[in-house]
Amino acid sequence: MNILKNVMDDVLRRNPNEPEFHQAVKEVLLSLEPVAEKHPEWVTDKIFDKIVEPERQIIFRVPWIDDKGVEHINRGFRVQFNSAIGPYKGGLRFHPSVNIGIVKFLGFEQIFKNSLTGLPIGGGKGGSDFDPKGKSNSEIKRFCQSFMLELNRHIGENTDIPAGDIGVGGREIGYMYGMYKKINNEFTGVLTGKGLNYGGSLGRTEATGYGLCYFMNEALKAKSKSFYGANVVISGSGNVAIYAHQKATQLGAKVIAMSDSSGYIYDDNGINLDTIKKIKEVERKRISEYIKYHPTATYTEGCIGIWTVKCDIALPCATQNEIDQNSAKILIDNGCYAVGEGANMPSTIEAVDLFIENKIIFGPAKAANAGGVATSALEMSQNSMRYSWTFEEVDDKLQTIMKGIYEKCSTAATEYGYEDNLVIGANIAGFIKVAEAMYAQGI
Ligand code: NDP
Repeated sequence: MNILKNVMDDVLRRNPNEPEFHQAVKEVLLSLEPVAEKHPEWVTDKIFDKIVEPERQIIFRVPWIDDKGVEHINRGFRVQFNSAIGPYKGGLRFHPSVNIGIVKFLGFEQIFKNSLTGLPIGGGKGGSDFDPKGKSNSEIKRFCQSFMLELNRHIGENTDIPAGDIGVGGREIGYMYGMYKKINNEFTGVLTGKGLNYGGSLGRTEATGYGLCYFMNEALKAKSKSFYGANVVISGSGNVAIYAHQKATQLGAKVIAMSDSSGYIYDDNGINLDTIKKIKEVERKRISEYIKYHPTATYTEGCIGIWTVKCDIALPCATQNEIDQNSAKILIDNGCYAVGEGANMPSTIEAVDLFIENKIIFGPAKAANAGGVATSALEMSQNSMRYSWTFEEVDDKLQTIMKGIYEKCSTAATEYGYEDNLVIGANIAGFIKVAEAMYAQGI
Protein backbone atom coordinates (compact mmCIF):
# COMPACT_ATOMS: atom_id res chain seq x y z
CA MET A 1 0.00 0.00 0.00
CA ASN A 2 1.36 3.40 -0.92
CA ILE A 3 -0.92 6.48 -1.12
CA LEU A 4 -3.47 4.96 1.27
CA LYS A 5 -0.97 3.60 3.81
CA ASN A 6 -1.69 6.43 6.27
CA VAL A 7 -5.40 5.68 6.10
CA MET A 8 -4.75 2.02 6.95
CA ASP A 9 -2.33 2.95 9.75
CA ASP A 10 -4.97 5.23 11.28
CA VAL A 11 -7.58 2.47 11.10
CA LEU A 12 -5.24 0.09 12.94
CA ARG A 13 -4.38 2.70 15.59
CA ARG A 14 -7.92 3.98 16.20
CA ASN A 15 -9.73 0.63 16.17
CA PRO A 16 -7.61 -1.71 18.29
CA ASN A 17 -8.64 -5.35 18.77
CA GLU A 18 -10.93 -5.37 15.73
CA PRO A 19 -9.18 -7.86 13.39
CA GLU A 20 -12.21 -8.49 11.16
CA PHE A 21 -12.66 -4.74 10.59
CA HIS A 22 -8.94 -4.34 9.83
CA GLN A 23 -9.14 -7.23 7.35
CA ALA A 24 -12.16 -5.80 5.52
CA VAL A 25 -10.65 -2.30 5.30
CA LYS A 26 -7.25 -3.61 4.17
CA GLU A 27 -8.78 -5.64 1.35
CA VAL A 28 -10.70 -2.63 0.08
CA LEU A 29 -7.87 -0.09 0.43
CA LEU A 30 -5.44 -2.37 -1.41
CA SER A 31 -7.85 -2.38 -4.36
CA LEU A 32 -8.35 1.38 -4.23
CA GLU A 33 -4.70 2.43 -4.73
CA PRO A 34 -5.19 2.93 -8.50
CA VAL A 35 -8.34 4.95 -7.79
CA ALA A 36 -6.43 7.19 -5.38
CA GLU A 37 -3.80 7.73 -8.09
CA LYS A 38 -6.46 8.72 -10.62
CA HIS A 39 -8.37 10.98 -8.20
CA PRO A 40 -5.95 13.12 -6.17
CA GLU A 41 -8.89 15.42 -5.32
CA TRP A 42 -10.45 12.57 -3.29
CA VAL A 43 -7.18 12.13 -1.40
CA THR A 44 -7.01 15.88 -0.65
CA ASP A 45 -10.66 15.93 0.40
CA LYS A 46 -9.99 12.94 2.70
CA ILE A 47 -12.73 10.81 1.13
CA PHE A 48 -10.71 7.65 1.90
CA ASP A 49 -10.22 8.70 5.55
CA LYS A 50 -13.93 9.50 5.89
CA ILE A 51 -15.22 6.30 4.34
CA VAL A 52 -13.43 4.12 6.93
CA GLU A 53 -14.97 6.04 9.85
CA PRO A 54 -18.62 5.20 10.64
CA GLU A 55 -20.97 8.17 10.69
CA ARG A 56 -22.46 6.85 13.94
CA GLN A 57 -21.95 3.85 16.27
CA ILE A 58 -24.63 2.94 18.77
CA ILE A 59 -24.09 0.42 21.60
CA PHE A 60 -26.88 -0.35 24.05
CA ARG A 61 -27.96 -2.61 26.89
CA VAL A 62 -30.54 -5.34 26.17
CA PRO A 63 -32.02 -6.83 29.34
CA TRP A 64 -34.40 -9.78 29.02
CA ILE A 65 -35.93 -12.44 31.27
CA ASP A 66 -35.68 -16.17 30.53
CA ASP A 67 -38.41 -18.77 31.08
CA LYS A 68 -37.21 -19.43 34.63
CA GLY A 69 -37.54 -15.76 35.57
CA VAL A 70 -33.78 -15.11 35.52
CA GLU A 71 -32.66 -11.76 34.07
CA HIS A 72 -29.92 -11.60 31.43
CA ILE A 73 -28.03 -8.66 29.96
CA ASN A 74 -26.84 -8.66 26.36
CA ARG A 75 -25.26 -5.94 24.27
CA GLY A 76 -26.95 -4.42 21.21
CA PHE A 77 -25.19 -2.67 18.33
CA ARG A 78 -26.10 -0.56 15.34
CA VAL A 79 -23.36 0.97 13.20
CA GLN A 80 -24.66 3.61 10.77
CA PHE A 81 -21.66 3.60 8.50
CA ASN A 82 -22.40 5.68 5.43
CA SER A 83 -25.51 7.49 4.15
CA ALA A 84 -24.02 9.25 1.10
CA ILE A 85 -26.25 7.46 -1.41
CA GLY A 86 -29.29 6.54 0.70
CA PRO A 87 -30.60 5.62 4.15
CA TYR A 88 -28.51 3.12 6.13
CA LYS A 89 -29.39 -0.43 5.19
CA GLY A 90 -28.00 -3.71 6.46
CA GLY A 91 -28.89 -6.71 8.59
CA LEU A 92 -28.98 -7.55 12.28
CA ARG A 93 -26.93 -10.53 13.49
CA PHE A 94 -27.67 -12.41 16.72
CA HIS A 95 -24.68 -14.60 17.58
CA PRO A 96 -22.41 -14.86 20.65
CA SER A 97 -19.40 -13.80 18.54
CA VAL A 98 -20.92 -10.39 17.73
CA ASN A 99 -18.89 -7.39 18.92
CA ILE A 100 -18.32 -3.86 17.64
CA GLY A 101 -15.44 -4.95 15.36
CA ILE A 102 -17.57 -7.59 13.63
CA VAL A 103 -20.45 -5.14 13.19
CA LYS A 104 -18.06 -2.54 11.75
CA PHE A 105 -16.57 -5.03 9.28
CA LEU A 106 -20.05 -6.00 8.12
CA GLY A 107 -21.23 -2.37 7.95
CA PHE A 108 -18.15 -1.35 5.97
CA GLU A 109 -18.67 -4.14 3.43
CA GLN A 110 -22.32 -3.19 3.20
CA ILE A 111 -21.48 0.31 1.88
CA PHE A 112 -19.91 -1.09 -1.28
CA LYS A 113 -22.34 -3.95 -1.68
CA ASN A 114 -25.32 -1.62 -1.51
CA SER A 115 -23.70 0.75 -3.96
CA LEU A 116 -23.13 -2.10 -6.43
CA THR A 117 -26.85 -2.93 -6.48
CA GLY A 118 -27.45 0.43 -8.19
CA LEU A 119 -30.24 1.15 -5.69
CA PRO A 120 -30.31 4.17 -3.36
CA ILE A 121 -29.19 2.55 -0.09
CA GLY A 122 -26.38 3.48 2.31
CA GLY A 123 -24.45 1.07 4.54
CA GLY A 124 -25.18 -0.06 8.09
CA LYS A 125 -25.21 -3.20 10.22
CA GLY A 126 -26.17 -4.24 13.72
CA GLY A 127 -26.92 -7.08 16.06
CA SER A 128 -26.27 -8.52 19.46
CA ASP A 129 -24.08 -11.05 21.26
CA PHE A 130 -27.32 -12.86 22.21
CA ASP A 131 -27.19 -16.59 21.37
CA PRO A 132 -30.56 -17.75 19.96
CA LYS A 133 -29.48 -21.40 20.06
CA GLY A 134 -31.48 -23.46 22.54
CA LYS A 135 -33.80 -20.57 23.46
CA SER A 136 -37.55 -21.07 23.61
CA ASN A 137 -39.87 -19.15 21.35
CA SER A 138 -40.97 -16.97 24.30
CA GLU A 139 -37.36 -16.15 25.16
CA ILE A 140 -36.64 -15.17 21.54
CA LYS A 141 -39.77 -12.99 21.57
CA ARG A 142 -38.85 -11.22 24.81
CA PHE A 143 -35.29 -10.63 23.61
CA CYS A 144 -36.43 -9.20 20.25
CA GLN A 145 -38.91 -6.89 21.99
CA SER A 146 -36.31 -5.60 24.42
CA PHE A 147 -33.80 -5.12 21.57
CA MET A 148 -36.33 -3.07 19.58
CA LEU A 149 -37.37 -1.05 22.63
CA GLU A 150 -33.98 0.66 22.36
CA LEU A 151 -33.19 0.30 18.64
CA ASN A 152 -36.47 1.91 17.55
CA ARG A 153 -35.30 5.44 18.40
CA HIS A 154 -32.35 5.16 16.01
CA ILE A 155 -34.08 3.76 12.90
CA GLY A 156 -36.89 4.76 10.53
CA GLU A 157 -38.07 4.15 6.99
CA ASN A 158 -36.10 7.18 5.74
CA THR A 159 -33.20 6.85 8.17
CA ASP A 160 -32.09 3.29 8.71
CA ILE A 161 -33.85 0.09 7.63
CA PRO A 162 -32.44 -3.08 9.26
CA ALA A 163 -33.01 -6.63 7.98
CA GLY A 164 -32.00 -10.17 9.04
CA ASP A 165 -28.61 -11.88 9.09
CA ILE A 166 -27.20 -14.86 11.04
CA GLY A 167 -29.67 -15.78 13.80
CA VAL A 168 -32.28 -13.30 12.59
CA GLY A 169 -34.89 -14.72 10.22
CA GLY A 170 -38.59 -14.14 9.57
CA ARG A 171 -39.64 -14.98 13.13
CA GLU A 172 -37.28 -12.46 14.74
CA ILE A 173 -38.08 -9.74 12.18
CA GLY A 174 -41.78 -10.28 12.97
CA TYR A 175 -41.31 -9.82 16.72
CA MET A 176 -39.15 -6.73 16.21
CA TYR A 177 -41.56 -5.24 13.68
CA GLY A 178 -44.50 -5.78 16.05
CA MET A 179 -42.65 -3.94 18.80
CA TYR A 180 -41.62 -1.05 16.52
CA LYS A 181 -45.22 -0.61 15.41
CA LYS A 182 -46.49 -0.68 18.99
CA ILE A 183 -44.03 2.00 20.12
CA ASN A 184 -44.39 4.30 17.13
CA ASN A 185 -48.01 3.65 16.17
CA GLU A 186 -47.18 3.59 12.47
CA PHE A 187 -47.18 0.88 9.80
CA THR A 188 -44.06 1.63 7.77
CA GLY A 189 -41.40 -0.37 5.97
CA VAL A 190 -38.82 0.15 8.72
CA LEU A 191 -37.55 -3.46 8.57
CA THR A 192 -37.19 -5.74 5.57
CA GLY A 193 -37.55 -9.51 5.47
CA LYS A 194 -41.08 -9.10 6.86
CA GLY A 195 -43.78 -11.75 6.54
CA LEU A 196 -45.74 -11.71 3.27
CA ASN A 197 -49.01 -10.71 4.92
CA TYR A 198 -47.58 -7.60 6.57
CA GLY A 199 -45.44 -5.91 3.94
CA GLY A 200 -42.81 -8.49 3.06
CA SER A 201 -41.71 -9.06 -0.52
CA LEU A 202 -42.11 -12.27 -2.44
CA GLY A 203 -38.65 -13.55 -3.31
CA ARG A 204 -36.83 -11.96 -0.34
CA THR A 205 -36.32 -15.29 1.42
CA GLU A 206 -34.73 -16.80 -1.67
CA ALA A 207 -32.89 -13.66 -2.80
CA THR A 208 -29.37 -14.02 -1.39
CA GLY A 209 -28.92 -17.67 -2.39
CA TYR A 210 -30.59 -17.20 -5.78
CA GLY A 211 -28.66 -13.98 -6.40
CA LEU A 212 -25.39 -15.75 -5.61
CA CYS A 213 -26.13 -18.35 -8.29
CA TYR A 214 -27.23 -15.69 -10.80
CA PHE A 215 -23.96 -13.80 -10.24
CA MET A 216 -21.83 -16.94 -10.47
CA ASN A 217 -23.73 -18.02 -13.57
CA GLU A 218 -22.56 -14.84 -15.31
CA ALA A 219 -18.98 -15.30 -14.11
CA LEU A 220 -18.99 -18.95 -15.20
CA LYS A 221 -20.52 -18.08 -18.58
CA ALA A 222 -17.70 -15.60 -19.25
CA LYS A 223 -15.29 -18.55 -18.96
CA SER A 224 -17.50 -20.94 -20.98
CA LYS A 225 -18.52 -22.89 -17.87
CA SER A 226 -21.85 -23.38 -16.10
CA PHE A 227 -23.60 -24.96 -13.13
CA TYR A 228 -24.96 -27.66 -15.41
CA GLY A 229 -23.48 -31.02 -14.40
CA ALA A 230 -21.19 -29.47 -11.78
CA ASN A 231 -20.62 -30.91 -8.29
CA VAL A 232 -21.18 -28.17 -5.74
CA VAL A 233 -20.20 -27.90 -2.06
CA ILE A 234 -22.14 -25.40 0.05
CA SER A 235 -21.15 -24.56 3.61
CA GLY A 236 -23.86 -23.62 6.10
CA SER A 237 -27.47 -24.74 6.07
CA GLY A 238 -29.18 -21.44 6.86
CA ASN A 239 -31.07 -19.02 4.68
CA VAL A 240 -28.33 -18.32 2.15
CA ALA A 241 -27.12 -21.93 1.89
CA ILE A 242 -30.59 -23.41 1.45
CA TYR A 243 -31.60 -21.15 -1.42
CA ALA A 244 -28.17 -21.37 -3.06
CA HIS A 245 -28.75 -25.14 -3.07
CA GLN A 246 -32.22 -24.67 -4.59
CA LYS A 247 -31.06 -22.42 -7.44
CA ALA A 248 -27.83 -24.32 -8.16
CA THR A 249 -29.91 -27.50 -8.46
CA GLN A 250 -32.42 -25.77 -10.75
CA LEU A 251 -29.46 -24.75 -12.92
CA GLY A 252 -28.42 -28.39 -13.26
CA ALA A 253 -25.81 -28.78 -10.53
CA LYS A 254 -25.59 -31.48 -7.86
CA VAL A 255 -24.98 -30.31 -4.28
CA ILE A 256 -22.92 -33.00 -2.55
CA ALA A 257 -22.06 -31.45 0.84
CA MET A 258 -23.51 -28.98 3.35
CA SER A 259 -22.66 -28.04 6.96
CA ASP A 260 -23.64 -26.28 10.16
CA SER A 261 -21.47 -24.96 12.97
CA SER A 262 -21.00 -28.51 14.33
CA GLY A 263 -20.03 -30.53 11.25
CA TYR A 264 -20.77 -31.43 7.65
CA ILE A 265 -22.69 -34.02 5.65
CA TYR A 266 -21.62 -35.56 2.36
CA ASP A 267 -23.53 -37.63 -0.15
CA ASP A 268 -22.30 -38.30 -3.65
CA ASN A 269 -25.92 -38.86 -4.73
CA GLY A 270 -26.75 -35.27 -3.82
CA ILE A 271 -28.09 -33.63 -0.65
CA ASN A 272 -31.88 -33.69 -0.32
CA LEU A 273 -33.03 -30.10 0.21
CA ASP A 274 -36.45 -30.99 1.65
CA THR A 275 -34.76 -32.89 4.47
CA ILE A 276 -32.40 -29.97 5.15
CA LYS A 277 -35.36 -27.55 5.27
CA LYS A 278 -37.22 -29.84 7.65
CA ILE A 279 -34.22 -30.18 10.00
CA LYS A 280 -33.08 -26.56 9.89
CA GLU A 281 -36.17 -24.44 9.18
CA VAL A 282 -38.85 -26.45 10.99
CA GLU A 283 -37.21 -28.54 13.72
CA ARG A 284 -34.21 -26.20 14.24
CA LYS A 285 -31.93 -29.20 14.92
CA ARG A 286 -28.34 -30.16 14.05
CA ILE A 287 -27.40 -31.19 10.50
CA SER A 288 -26.12 -34.52 11.87
CA GLU A 289 -29.80 -35.60 11.97
CA TYR A 290 -29.67 -35.82 8.16
CA ILE A 291 -28.04 -39.26 8.10
CA LYS A 292 -31.04 -40.73 9.96
CA TYR A 293 -33.14 -40.00 6.86
CA HIS A 294 -30.50 -40.73 4.20
CA PRO A 295 -28.27 -43.71 5.05
CA THR A 296 -26.02 -43.16 1.99
CA ALA A 297 -24.87 -39.84 3.50
CA THR A 298 -22.01 -39.48 5.97
CA TYR A 299 -21.61 -36.97 8.79
CA THR A 300 -18.22 -35.62 9.94
CA GLU A 301 -17.80 -33.59 13.12
CA GLY A 302 -16.11 -30.18 12.59
CA CYS A 303 -17.18 -27.83 9.82
CA ILE A 304 -13.81 -26.88 8.26
CA GLY A 305 -13.40 -30.38 6.77
CA ILE A 306 -16.12 -29.61 4.23
CA TRP A 307 -13.47 -27.97 2.03
CA THR A 308 -11.66 -31.30 1.64
CA VAL A 309 -14.65 -32.61 -0.35
CA LYS A 310 -13.71 -32.71 -4.04
CA CYS A 311 -15.94 -30.36 -6.04
CA ASP A 312 -16.14 -28.17 -9.13
CA ILE A 313 -17.77 -25.16 -7.49
CA ALA A 314 -17.59 -24.09 -3.82
CA LEU A 315 -20.18 -21.75 -2.33
CA PRO A 316 -19.21 -20.72 1.23
CA CYS A 317 -22.51 -19.60 2.80
CA ALA A 318 -21.90 -19.86 6.57
CA THR A 319 -19.72 -17.19 8.15
CA GLN A 320 -16.56 -15.05 7.98
CA ASN A 321 -13.07 -16.57 7.54
CA GLU A 322 -14.33 -20.12 7.05
CA ILE A 323 -11.88 -20.71 4.15
CA ASP A 324 -8.28 -20.16 5.17
CA GLN A 325 -5.17 -20.52 3.03
CA ASN A 326 -4.94 -24.25 3.72
CA SER A 327 -8.57 -24.94 2.78
CA ALA A 328 -8.17 -22.80 -0.34
CA LYS A 329 -5.13 -24.83 -1.36
CA ILE A 330 -7.00 -28.11 -0.85
CA LEU A 331 -9.94 -26.86 -2.93
CA ILE A 332 -7.62 -25.83 -5.78
CA ASP A 333 -5.59 -29.06 -5.63
CA ASN A 334 -8.85 -31.02 -5.81
CA GLY A 335 -9.81 -29.29 -9.06
CA CYS A 336 -12.34 -26.73 -7.84
CA TYR A 337 -12.55 -24.04 -10.54
CA ALA A 338 -15.05 -21.56 -9.09
CA VAL A 339 -15.76 -20.07 -5.66
CA GLY A 340 -18.76 -17.83 -4.98
CA GLU A 341 -19.01 -16.13 -1.61
CA GLY A 342 -22.56 -16.29 -0.21
CA ALA A 343 -21.46 -15.43 3.32
CA ASN A 344 -19.75 -12.15 4.18
CA MET A 345 -15.93 -12.36 3.97
CA PRO A 346 -15.86 -16.18 4.20
CA SER A 347 -12.34 -16.32 2.71
CA THR A 348 -9.26 -14.92 4.45
CA ILE A 349 -7.12 -12.45 2.48
CA GLU A 350 -4.51 -15.22 1.94
CA ALA A 351 -7.18 -17.57 0.60
CA VAL A 352 -8.47 -14.91 -1.82
CA ASP A 353 -4.90 -14.28 -3.03
CA LEU A 354 -4.51 -18.00 -3.77
CA PHE A 355 -7.80 -18.11 -5.70
CA ILE A 356 -6.81 -15.11 -7.81
CA GLU A 357 -3.25 -16.39 -8.43
CA ASN A 358 -4.65 -19.75 -9.56
CA LYS A 359 -7.21 -18.12 -11.87
CA ILE A 360 -10.16 -19.55 -9.98
CA ILE A 361 -13.44 -17.89 -11.02
CA PHE A 362 -13.95 -15.97 -7.80
CA GLY A 363 -17.14 -14.07 -6.88
CA PRO A 364 -16.41 -11.82 -3.88
CA ALA A 365 -19.11 -11.49 -1.22
CA LYS A 366 -19.92 -7.85 -1.65
CA ALA A 367 -20.91 -8.51 -5.25
CA ALA A 368 -22.02 -12.14 -5.20
CA ASN A 369 -24.29 -11.96 -2.14
CA ALA A 370 -25.80 -8.54 -2.87
CA GLY A 371 -29.06 -10.11 -4.03
CA GLY A 372 -30.44 -10.14 -0.49
CA VAL A 373 -30.05 -6.47 0.16
CA ALA A 374 -31.13 -5.64 -3.40
CA THR A 375 -34.41 -7.45 -2.82
CA SER A 376 -34.72 -5.75 0.56
CA ALA A 377 -34.54 -2.46 -1.33
CA LEU A 378 -37.27 -3.79 -3.65
CA GLU A 379 -39.31 -4.55 -0.51
CA MET A 380 -38.81 -0.91 0.56
CA SER A 381 -40.04 0.29 -2.83
CA GLN A 382 -43.14 -1.89 -2.62
CA ASN A 383 -43.84 -0.64 0.93
CA SER A 384 -43.54 2.98 -0.22
CA MET A 385 -45.91 2.32 -3.13
CA ARG A 386 -48.23 0.25 -0.90
CA TYR A 387 -48.10 -2.36 -3.64
CA SER A 388 -46.75 -5.89 -4.17
CA TRP A 389 -45.00 -7.37 -7.15
CA THR A 390 -45.39 -11.05 -8.06
CA PHE A 391 -42.59 -13.53 -7.34
CA GLU A 392 -41.72 -13.54 -11.06
CA GLU A 393 -41.50 -9.73 -11.18
CA VAL A 394 -39.17 -9.65 -8.17
CA ASP A 395 -37.07 -12.55 -9.45
CA ASP A 396 -36.75 -10.88 -12.88
CA LYS A 397 -35.53 -7.68 -11.24
CA LEU A 398 -33.10 -9.69 -9.09
CA GLN A 399 -31.65 -11.40 -12.16
CA THR A 400 -31.22 -8.05 -13.91
CA ILE A 401 -29.56 -6.56 -10.83
CA MET A 402 -27.12 -9.48 -10.40
CA LYS A 403 -26.19 -9.37 -14.09
CA GLY A 404 -25.64 -5.62 -13.72
CA ILE A 405 -23.41 -6.15 -10.69
CA TYR A 406 -21.30 -8.71 -12.55
CA GLU A 407 -20.92 -6.32 -15.50
CA LYS A 408 -19.95 -3.40 -13.24
CA CYS A 409 -17.29 -5.49 -11.47
CA SER A 410 -15.91 -6.95 -14.66
CA THR A 411 -15.82 -3.57 -16.45
CA ALA A 412 -14.13 -1.78 -13.53
CA ALA A 413 -11.53 -4.57 -13.24
CA THR A 414 -10.70 -4.30 -16.94
CA GLU A 415 -10.68 -0.48 -16.93
CA TYR A 416 -8.12 -0.41 -14.12
CA GLY A 417 -5.93 -3.13 -15.69
CA TYR A 418 -6.96 -6.11 -13.53
CA GLU A 419 -8.94 -8.17 -16.01
CA ASP A 420 -10.93 -11.04 -14.45
CA ASN A 421 -10.16 -9.85 -10.89
CA LEU A 422 -13.69 -9.38 -9.60
CA VAL A 423 -12.41 -8.57 -6.09
CA ILE A 424 -10.72 -5.40 -7.28
CA GLY A 425 -13.56 -4.73 -9.72
CA ALA A 426 -16.21 -4.93 -6.98
CA ASN A 427 -14.27 -2.72 -4.59
CA ILE A 428 -13.61 -0.06 -7.23
CA ALA A 429 -17.09 -0.04 -8.78
CA GLY A 430 -18.77 -0.01 -5.34
CA PHE A 431 -16.49 2.74 -4.05
CA ILE A 432 -16.67 5.18 -6.95
CA LYS A 433 -20.42 5.85 -6.71
CA VAL A 434 -20.19 6.50 -2.97
CA ALA A 435 -17.03 8.61 -3.29
CA GLU A 436 -18.60 10.80 -5.97
CA ALA A 437 -21.65 11.34 -3.75
CA MET A 438 -19.53 12.13 -0.69
CA TYR A 439 -17.38 14.55 -2.71
CA ALA A 440 -20.45 16.28 -4.15
CA GLN A 441 -22.09 16.60 -0.74
CA GLY A 442 -18.93 17.93 0.90
CA ILE A 443 -19.42 15.66 3.89
P1 NDP B 1 -28.42 -18.28 9.10
O1 NDP B 1 -28.41 -17.95 10.55
O2 NDP B 1 -29.71 -18.54 8.43
O3 NDP B 1 -27.46 -19.53 8.81
C1 NDP B 1 -26.12 -19.53 9.16
C2 NDP B 1 -25.57 -20.91 8.87
O4 NDP B 1 -24.15 -20.90 9.04
C3 NDP B 1 -26.09 -21.96 9.82
O5 NDP B 1 -26.16 -23.18 9.13
C4 NDP B 1 -25.02 -22.02 10.90
O6 NDP B 1 -24.97 -23.24 11.59
C5 NDP B 1 -23.79 -21.84 10.06
N1 NDP B 1 -22.68 -21.27 10.86
C6 NDP B 1 -22.69 -20.22 11.70
N2 NDP B 1 -21.49 -20.02 12.26
C7 NDP B 1 -20.70 -20.97 11.76
C8 NDP B 1 -19.35 -21.30 11.93
N3 NDP B 1 -18.55 -20.62 12.77
N4 NDP B 1 -18.86 -22.33 11.22
C9 NDP B 1 -19.65 -23.03 10.37
N5 NDP B 1 -20.94 -22.77 10.16
C10 NDP B 1 -21.45 -21.76 10.85
O7 NDP B 1 -27.64 -17.07 8.39
P2 NDP B 1 -27.69 -16.62 6.88
O8 NDP B 1 -27.80 -17.79 5.98
O9 NDP B 1 -28.66 -15.52 6.77
O10 NDP B 1 -26.25 -15.95 6.73
C11 NDP B 1 -25.09 -16.69 6.36
C12 NDP B 1 -24.02 -15.74 5.87
O11 NDP B 1 -24.52 -15.00 4.75
C13 NDP B 1 -23.56 -14.69 6.87
O12 NDP B 1 -22.19 -14.41 6.63
C14 NDP B 1 -24.38 -13.48 6.49
O13 NDP B 1 -23.77 -12.27 6.90
C15 NDP B 1 -24.39 -13.61 4.99
N6 NDP B 1 -25.46 -12.89 4.30
C16 NDP B 1 -26.77 -13.15 4.58
C17 NDP B 1 -27.76 -12.49 3.88
C18 NDP B 1 -29.20 -12.82 4.06
O14 NDP B 1 -30.02 -12.31 3.28
N7 NDP B 1 -29.58 -13.65 5.00
C19 NDP B 1 -27.43 -11.44 2.90
C20 NDP B 1 -26.03 -11.32 2.63
C21 NDP B 1 -25.10 -12.01 3.33
P3 NDP B 1 -25.87 -23.53 12.89
O15 NDP B 1 -27.17 -24.02 12.36
O16 NDP B 1 -25.09 -24.53 13.63
O17 NDP B 1 -26.00 -22.22 13.62
